[in-house]
Amino acid sequence: MIYNEILVRFGDLTLKGKNQNTFLRSLFKLVDKKMEELDGILVEHTHDRIFIHLNGVDHNLVLERLNRVSGLSSYSLVVECNDDINTIKETALALMQEVVVDKPVTFKVDTKRANKQYPLHSMEITKIVSGYVLSHHNLLKVDVHNPEVELFLEVRGGKCYLYNTTIRAMGGYPVGIAGKGLLMLSGGIDSPVAGYMAMKQGIQIEAIHFESTPLTSIESAQKVVDLVKKMALYAPNDKIMVHMIPFKEIHQAILEYVDDSYIITVMRRMMYRIATKMAEKHKCLCLVNGESVGQVASQTLGSMHCINSVTNIPVLRPLVTFDKQDIIAISKKIDCYDLSIKPFQDCCTVYLPKNPTTNPHEGKAQHYESLFDFEKMVDWAVENSNDIVIDASSDLDLSMYGLEVRDVLKEYWEERKNSESK
Ligand code: ATP
Ligand code: MG
Repeated sequence: MIYNEILVRFGDLTLKGKNQNTFLRSLFKLVDKKMEELDGILVEHTHDRIFIHLNGVDHNLVLERLNRVSGLSSYSLVVECNDDINTIKETALALMQEVVVDKPVTFKVDTKRANKQYPLHSMEITKIVSGYVLSHHNLLKVDVHNPEVELFLEVRGGKCYLYNTTIRAMGGYPVGIAGKGLLMLSGGIDSPVAGYMAMKQGIQIEAIHFESTPLTSIESAQKVVDLVKKMALYAPNDKIMVHMIPFKEIHQAILEYVDDSYIITVMRRMMYRIATKMAEKHKCLCLVNGESVGQVASQTLGSMHCINSVTNIPVLRPLVTFDKQDIIAISKKIDCYDLSIKPFQDCCTVYLPKNPTTNPHEGKAQHYESLFDFEKMVDWAVENSNDIVIDASSDLDLSMYGLEVRDVLKEYWEERKNSESK
């Protein structure tokens, strides 16, 4: 491959106003971190571009990592050369010889000249280079309106950058720049996608999972750990904190005291109450979840209204208007789908009431809640959350321990403490 560099763009900075510098600092830090493990790569930052000098490293390894950096708008595989016109001509020909090998194509040269001191105008450069390439490559024909292949030349800072395509990057804002949010993570298809969308928009996430082991299986909690590991690839430092909330007692109280039709409503109101307190405790400015209007009984507008009324912090629902097919496509893209469809039951699915209400009355929900001392239980759950940091390369295996996640994690911490003190 002739490419020796990747040119990375990050969109229109004028839109970022006063936050430009913060934006750039976060972005550079994210890119540097992702490139850290690739020996030989050299990352160069300028005020409006990042240049990644490959130095022989496979460009696919770099692209794979760039696709995990939010805030980048696009990138191109480029050949960099000096800006004297003869060198540009030769490099352009070499690139086109590599790109067009077997069948004839139409092409066009497009020149941008950032260096206004350069002795030739853009049109002159285009003319000279396309004339030279055409006369030395017999499979090319010019078509300025609808070319099959384009050759872009950017002359800037004593160099010329040559490339054929621009690939869209992740977009959005550098993760972390918008502050922290608490993602309600269930282990299904939707919530990891919601978390990814939030990170893409600049929100650093911590995850919260309500686990009811041993009412639910340890595998359902393991699934959450494994999903967080996948999502951590998009997080700052490849790490996400997950809060495992012991939910069994509340879950049992709900099954005992609440009418079947209100079980899901009350369960979700409890989740929101705990999540709100956890968000305050961990300085998260919002909740994020995978709800989408109309998907299930608890996601009608009536249900959402009744459930949402127990919290006063913003609840972001990145998927609220998404079709399931679109959610699945993103789930596959971020490599969570195969995990998400593993059939382990969590607390919302282990006992599914036959006729859940789609239009709950808040007074009724409050009535059922008054039948047990839920506030104490909520506070206890918050105090007894097990907080673990999962990184993209961690391999926490819950099944090695016991039946209840709370015991499992106790054992896990003990083991770690012991091994660290040795
Ligand atoms: P998902 O595919 O993410 O499981 P879903 O369509 O199954 O979503 P629900 O089970 O009604 O929908 O849950 C809606 C949202 O509530 C989830 O996307 C998630 O954000 C949150 N949630 C549900 N169960 C849990 C749980 N056990 N722990 C944490 N959050 C949960
Ligand atoms: Mg679910």
